[in-house]
Amino acid sequence: MENVFLSLGSNLGDRNSYLQYACQMIEQRIGVVEHKSSVYESAPWGYVSNNFFYNQVLQIQCNIEALELLSNLQQIEHELGRERYASHYVDRTLDIDILFFGEQVISLPQLTVPHPYITQRRFVLEPFSEIAPFFIHPVLKLTIQQLLEQCEDKSFIRKLESTT
Ligand code: AMP
Repeated sequence: MENVFLSLGSNLGDRNSYLQYACQMIEQRIGVVEHKSSVYESAPWGYVSNNFFYNQVLQIQCNIEALELLSNLQQIEHELGRERYASHYVDRTLDIDILFFGEQVISLPQLTVPHPYITQRRFVLEPFSEIAPFFIHPVLKLTIQQLLEQCEDKSFIRKLESTT
C-alpha cells in the first residue's frame, strides 16, 4: 500500500461538483480516500484568468504503480470534461496532480514526484497542512507546516466554510 497525496483543482463550471465527482471516482477506481482537506478558493497560479479555482488535497491509500495511478487520474480528468492544450496554464474543469507517492522520488518524462511546484503553491500547502502538517517532504526533509511557513506565494486564497 502506498500513502499518496493528490491535489485537485477546478475553475470551470460547477467547481465543487467536479471536486466531489473526482473524489468519488478515485474511491471507486483507485483506493481508499483517508483524508480530504476543506475546499479552498484561489486565484489562478501562473496565468491570468477571471475564473478562480476551487482546490482540495486528498490523502489516499492505493495498491497500484505510480504510472498506472497517473493514467487512471488522467482518465478521470478526461471523463470530467478536461480538454488538453499545448499550454499547461488554461482554465479547466478538473486538474489532478500527484504530490507525493509515498517516499518515492520519480523522474520520468511524464511524471515528476514529489511534484516540483509544491513549495511555490500556497493553494497546495494550505489545504495539505490541514490534513497532514507533519508529513515530511522526502527530498527537502521539511514538514508541510515548515514549507508553508517558508512559502513566498502571495496569491489570493481563502478557505470555504460551506463545502466539504
Ligand atoms: P497539467 O496540465 O498541469 O495537468 O499537467 C499534466 C502533465 O504533467 C501530464 O502530461 C503529466 O504527464 C505531467 N506530470 C508530471 N508530473 C506530474 C505529477 N506529479 N502529477 C500529475 N501530472 C504530472
